[in-house]
Amino acid sequence: MENQWQYLKMLVETGKLPHAFLFSGSNGSENKEIAHDFIKLLHCQEKDFSKKPCGACRSCADIERQMHPDSVLIDSQEEEIPISKIRELKDCFSLKPFLGQIKTAVIANAHLMNREAQSSFLKLLEEPKGNALFILATEYPEMLLPTILSRVEKVRLFTVSKTKKEDQQNKFCKKTTQDFTRLAESDLGYRFEAAKELSGSPQLQEVLQIWMGHLREVLLLKAKNPENNMNLNKLAETIKLIQRIHFLLATTNVNPRLALETLMLGI
Ligand SMILES: [Zn+2]
Repeated sequence: MENQWQYLKMLVETGKLPHAFLFSGSNGSENKEIAHDFIKLLHCQEKDFSKKPCGACRSCADIERQMHPDSVLIDSQEEEIPISKIRELKDCFSLKPFLGQIKTAVIANAHLMNREAQSSFLKLLEEPKGNALFILATEYPEMLLPTILSRVEKVRLFTVSKTKKEDQQNKFCKKTTQDFTRLAESDLGYRFEAAKELSGSPQLQEVLQIWMGHLREVLLLKAKNPENNMNLNKLAETIKLIQRIHFLLATTNVNPRLALETLMLGI
Protein backbone atom coordinates (compact mmCIF):
# COMPACT_ATOMS: atom_id res chain seq x y z
CA MET A 1 0.00 0.00 0.00
CA GLU A 2 2.87 2.33 0.86
CA ASN A 3 4.25 2.18 -2.70
CA GLN A 4 0.94 3.06 -4.28
CA TRP A 5 0.49 5.92 -1.85
CA GLN A 6 3.91 7.33 -2.76
CA TYR A 7 3.02 6.97 -6.42
CA LEU A 8 -0.23 8.89 -5.94
CA LYS A 9 1.56 11.64 -4.03
CA MET A 10 4.13 11.90 -6.79
CA LEU A 11 1.37 12.39 -9.37
CA VAL A 12 -0.04 15.27 -7.34
CA GLU A 13 3.35 16.84 -6.73
CA THR A 14 4.34 16.72 -10.38
CA GLY A 15 0.90 17.85 -11.57
CA LYS A 16 0.38 14.68 -13.61
CA LEU A 17 -3.02 13.77 -12.28
CA PRO A 18 -5.35 11.95 -14.66
CA HIS A 19 -9.06 12.80 -14.76
CA ALA A 20 -10.08 9.55 -13.18
CA PHE A 21 -8.71 6.72 -11.10
CA LEU A 22 -9.90 3.24 -10.38
CA PHE A 23 -8.81 2.00 -6.98
CA SER A 24 -9.19 -1.75 -6.70
CA GLY A 25 -7.32 -4.79 -5.48
CA SER A 26 -8.11 -4.49 -1.83
CA ASN A 27 -11.42 -4.93 -0.05
CA GLY A 28 -14.18 -2.33 -0.31
CA SER A 29 -13.44 -0.45 2.88
CA GLU A 30 -9.69 -0.25 2.25
CA ASN A 31 -10.21 0.99 -1.32
CA LYS A 32 -12.55 3.62 0.06
CA GLU A 33 -10.22 4.59 2.87
CA ILE A 34 -7.28 5.30 0.60
CA ALA A 35 -9.54 7.22 -1.78
CA HIS A 36 -10.66 9.29 1.19
CA ASP A 37 -7.06 10.02 2.25
CA PHE A 38 -6.14 10.91 -1.29
CA ILE A 39 -9.02 13.39 -1.57
CA LYS A 40 -7.84 14.99 1.66
CA LEU A 41 -4.35 15.27 0.22
CA LEU A 42 -5.73 17.03 -2.87
CA HIS A 43 -7.74 19.59 -0.94
CA CYS A 44 -5.45 20.04 2.07
CA GLN A 45 -4.42 23.66 2.70
CA GLU A 46 -1.12 22.86 4.42
CA LYS A 47 1.77 24.62 2.61
CA ASP A 48 4.39 21.94 3.20
CA PHE A 49 3.57 19.21 0.71
CA SER A 50 5.29 16.49 2.71
CA LYS A 51 2.84 17.11 5.58
CA LYS A 52 -0.26 16.68 3.44
CA PRO A 53 -2.88 15.62 4.34
CA CYS A 54 -2.42 17.48 7.61
CA GLY A 55 -5.75 16.39 9.08
CA ALA A 56 -5.99 19.74 10.88
CA CYS A 57 -6.86 22.40 8.27
CA ARG A 58 -10.40 23.39 7.39
CA SER A 59 -10.42 21.36 4.18
CA CYS A 60 -9.24 18.19 5.91
CA ALA A 61 -11.84 18.69 8.62
CA ASP A 62 -14.64 19.37 6.11
CA ILE A 63 -13.79 16.25 4.16
CA GLU A 64 -13.77 14.25 7.35
CA ARG A 65 -17.31 15.50 8.07
CA GLN A 66 -18.28 15.03 4.41
CA MET A 67 -19.11 18.71 4.16
CA HIS A 68 -16.45 19.93 1.76
CA PRO A 69 -18.14 21.94 -1.03
CA ASP A 70 -15.75 20.67 -3.72
CA SER A 71 -15.75 17.04 -2.74
CA VAL A 72 -18.55 14.58 -3.38
CA LEU A 73 -18.77 11.11 -1.91
CA ILE A 74 -21.21 8.60 -3.30
CA ASP A 75 -21.32 5.72 -0.90
CA SER A 76 -24.57 3.93 -1.48
CA GLN A 77 -25.93 1.68 1.22
CA GLU A 78 -28.57 0.50 -1.24
CA GLU A 79 -28.34 -2.45 -3.58
CA GLU A 80 -27.38 -0.23 -6.48
CA ILE A 81 -26.29 3.28 -7.34
CA PRO A 82 -29.08 4.80 -9.46
CA ILE A 83 -28.66 7.29 -12.28
CA SER A 84 -30.09 10.06 -10.08
CA LYS A 85 -26.86 10.01 -8.01
CA ILE A 86 -24.77 10.52 -11.14
CA ARG A 87 -27.08 13.36 -12.26
CA GLU A 88 -26.49 15.09 -8.92
CA LEU A 89 -22.79 14.61 -9.45
CA LYS A 90 -23.04 16.19 -12.90
CA ASP A 91 -24.87 19.21 -11.51
CA CYS A 92 -22.23 19.66 -8.86
CA PHE A 93 -19.41 19.34 -11.36
CA SER A 94 -20.94 21.92 -13.70
CA LEU A 95 -19.96 24.58 -11.15
CA LYS A 96 -16.44 25.91 -10.56
CA PRO A 97 -14.57 24.84 -7.43
CA PHE A 98 -15.81 26.81 -4.48
CA LEU A 99 -12.75 26.81 -2.24
CA GLY A 100 -9.70 25.49 -4.02
CA GLN A 101 -8.58 24.59 -7.51
CA ILE A 102 -10.15 21.21 -8.00
CA LYS A 103 -13.39 19.34 -7.62
CA THR A 104 -13.27 15.70 -6.62
CA ALA A 105 -15.67 12.81 -6.40
CA VAL A 106 -15.32 9.38 -4.92
CA ILE A 107 -17.73 6.65 -5.95
CA ALA A 108 -17.33 3.91 -3.39
CA ASN A 109 -18.47 0.42 -4.40
CA ALA A 110 -18.58 1.74 -7.96
CA HIS A 111 -19.66 -1.66 -9.26
CA LEU A 112 -23.07 -0.94 -7.73
CA MET A 113 -23.75 1.68 -10.44
CA ASN A 114 -26.47 0.21 -12.60
CA ARG A 115 -26.23 0.26 -16.40
CA GLU A 116 -27.88 3.68 -16.78
CA ALA A 117 -25.72 5.15 -14.04
CA GLN A 118 -22.58 3.79 -15.67
CA SER A 119 -23.54 5.20 -19.08
CA SER A 120 -24.25 8.55 -17.52
CA PHE A 121 -20.95 8.49 -15.65
CA LEU A 122 -19.16 7.60 -18.87
CA LYS A 123 -20.43 10.85 -20.45
CA LEU A 124 -19.05 12.76 -17.50
CA LEU A 125 -15.68 11.12 -18.07
CA GLU A 126 -15.78 11.89 -21.76
CA GLU A 127 -16.50 15.57 -21.28
CA PRO A 128 -14.49 16.62 -18.27
CA LYS A 129 -15.29 20.16 -17.22
CA GLY A 130 -12.47 22.15 -15.66
CA ASN A 131 -10.23 20.71 -13.04
CA ALA A 132 -11.99 17.59 -11.89
CA LEU A 133 -10.93 14.26 -10.50
CA PHE A 134 -13.04 11.15 -10.13
CA ILE A 135 -12.12 8.10 -8.11
CA LEU A 136 -13.97 4.85 -8.57
CA ALA A 137 -13.31 2.45 -5.73
CA THR A 138 -14.37 -1.15 -6.06
CA GLU A 139 -13.37 -4.73 -5.40
CA TYR A 140 -15.13 -5.78 -8.60
CA PRO A 141 -13.76 -3.66 -11.46
CA GLU A 142 -14.89 -6.29 -13.97
CA MET A 143 -18.46 -5.16 -13.33
CA LEU A 144 -17.76 -1.75 -14.87
CA LEU A 145 -18.24 -0.96 -18.56
CA PRO A 146 -15.08 -1.55 -20.61
CA THR A 147 -15.47 1.99 -21.94
CA ILE A 148 -15.19 3.28 -18.36
CA LEU A 149 -12.23 1.03 -17.61
CA SER A 150 -10.36 2.31 -20.64
CA ARG A 151 -10.69 5.90 -19.42
CA VAL A 152 -9.45 5.53 -15.87
CA GLU A 153 -6.00 5.08 -14.44
CA LYS A 154 -5.98 1.82 -12.55
CA VAL A 155 -4.29 1.62 -9.18
CA ARG A 156 -4.28 -1.77 -7.56
CA LEU A 157 -4.04 -1.50 -3.80
CA PHE A 158 -2.60 -4.49 -2.05
CA THR A 159 -1.94 -4.13 1.62
CA VAL A 160 1.41 -5.53 2.66
CA SER A 161 -0.10 -7.64 5.37
CA LYS A 162 -2.61 -9.13 2.96
CA THR A 163 0.08 -9.99 0.42
CA LYS A 164 2.23 -11.52 3.15
CA LYS A 165 -0.69 -13.50 4.46
CA GLU A 166 -1.56 -14.76 1.00
CA ASP A 167 2.04 -15.67 0.47
CA GLN A 168 2.14 -17.71 3.69
CA GLN A 169 -1.15 -19.35 2.76
CA ASN A 170 0.17 -20.28 -0.69
CA LYS A 171 3.29 -21.80 0.83
CA PHE A 172 1.21 -23.80 3.30
CA CYS A 173 -1.04 -25.02 0.48
CA LYS A 174 1.93 -26.08 -1.61
CA LYS A 175 3.60 -27.94 1.25
CA THR A 176 0.34 -29.66 2.20
CA THR A 177 -0.18 -30.81 -1.38
CA GLN A 178 3.38 -32.15 -1.54
CA ASP A 179 2.82 -33.99 1.76
CA PHE A 180 -0.17 -35.74 0.22
CA THR A 181 1.75 -36.82 -2.87
CA ARG A 182 4.47 -38.24 -0.63
CA LEU A 183 1.88 -40.10 1.46
CA ALA A 184 0.28 -41.63 -1.61
CA GLU A 185 3.66 -42.94 -2.69
CA SER A 186 4.69 -44.26 0.73
CA ASP A 187 4.07 -47.51 2.59
CA LEU A 188 1.54 -47.92 5.40
CA GLY A 189 4.17 -47.54 8.13
CA TYR A 190 5.01 -44.06 6.93
CA ARG A 191 1.34 -43.18 6.45
CA PHE A 192 0.35 -44.26 9.95
CA GLU A 193 3.21 -42.28 11.41
CA ALA A 194 1.90 -39.26 9.46
CA ALA A 195 -1.64 -39.94 10.71
CA LYS A 196 -0.40 -39.86 14.29
CA GLU A 197 1.39 -36.55 13.74
CA LEU A 198 -1.44 -34.93 11.81
CA SER A 199 -4.09 -35.99 14.32
CA GLY A 200 -2.64 -33.51 16.83
CA SER A 201 -2.39 -30.62 14.39
CA PRO A 202 -4.69 -27.62 14.91
CA GLN A 203 -4.74 -27.28 11.13
CA LEU A 204 -6.06 -30.77 10.51
CA GLN A 205 -9.38 -29.68 8.95
CA GLU A 206 -7.62 -27.16 6.75
CA VAL A 207 -5.16 -29.83 5.58
CA LEU A 208 -8.03 -32.12 4.60
CA GLN A 209 -9.70 -29.32 2.68
CA ILE A 210 -6.49 -28.60 0.79
CA TRP A 211 -6.14 -32.29 -0.08
CA MET A 212 -9.70 -32.38 -1.38
CA GLY A 213 -9.15 -29.25 -3.43
CA HIS A 214 -5.95 -30.63 -4.86
CA LEU A 215 -7.49 -34.00 -5.78
CA ARG A 216 -10.50 -32.29 -7.37
CA GLU A 217 -8.15 -30.30 -9.56
CA VAL A 218 -6.26 -33.45 -10.54
CA LEU A 219 -9.56 -35.19 -11.28
CA LEU A 220 -10.77 -32.38 -13.53
CA LEU A 221 -7.49 -32.29 -15.34
CA LYS A 222 -7.43 -36.03 -15.92
CA ALA A 223 -11.07 -36.09 -16.98
CA LYS A 224 -10.28 -33.61 -19.74
CA ASN A 225 -7.52 -35.85 -20.98
CA PRO A 226 -9.05 -39.29 -21.60
CA GLU A 227 -5.84 -40.93 -22.92
CA ASN A 228 -4.46 -40.69 -19.46
CA ASN A 229 -4.77 -44.10 -17.88
CA MET A 230 -4.98 -42.94 -14.31
CA ASN A 231 -7.92 -44.47 -12.55
CA LEU A 232 -10.54 -41.72 -12.24
CA ASN A 233 -12.81 -43.82 -10.06
CA LYS A 234 -10.06 -44.37 -7.52
CA LEU A 235 -9.45 -40.64 -7.43
CA ALA A 236 -13.14 -39.88 -6.95
CA GLU A 237 -13.33 -42.49 -4.17
CA THR A 238 -10.38 -40.91 -2.37
CA ILE A 239 -12.04 -37.49 -2.53
CA LYS A 240 -15.25 -38.96 -1.09
CA LEU A 241 -13.29 -40.67 1.67
CA ILE A 242 -11.52 -37.45 2.67
CA GLN A 243 -14.86 -35.66 2.56
CA ARG A 244 -16.36 -38.22 4.91
CA ILE A 245 -13.46 -38.02 7.36
CA HIS A 246 -13.59 -34.23 7.23
CA PHE A 247 -17.32 -34.34 7.98
CA LEU A 248 -16.93 -36.83 10.83
CA LEU A 249 -14.17 -34.80 12.44
CA ALA A 250 -16.25 -31.64 12.21
CA THR A 251 -19.50 -33.09 13.52
CA THR A 252 -18.71 -36.00 15.83
CA ASN A 253 -16.32 -36.97 18.58
CA VAL A 254 -14.55 -39.47 16.38
CA ASN A 255 -10.94 -40.15 17.36
CA PRO A 256 -8.87 -38.11 14.86
CA ARG A 257 -6.02 -40.60 14.78
CA LEU A 258 -8.30 -43.56 14.03
CA ALA A 259 -10.18 -41.56 11.41
CA LEU A 260 -6.92 -40.58 9.73
CA GLU A 261 -5.67 -44.16 9.80
CA THR A 262 -8.82 -45.19 7.91
CA LEU A 263 -8.03 -42.48 5.43
CA MET A 264 -4.45 -43.67 5.08
CA LEU A 265 -5.69 -47.14 4.16
CA GLY A 266 -7.76 -45.67 1.36
CA ILE A 267 -5.38 -43.35 -0.44
ZN1 LIG B 1 -5.09 19.61 5.68
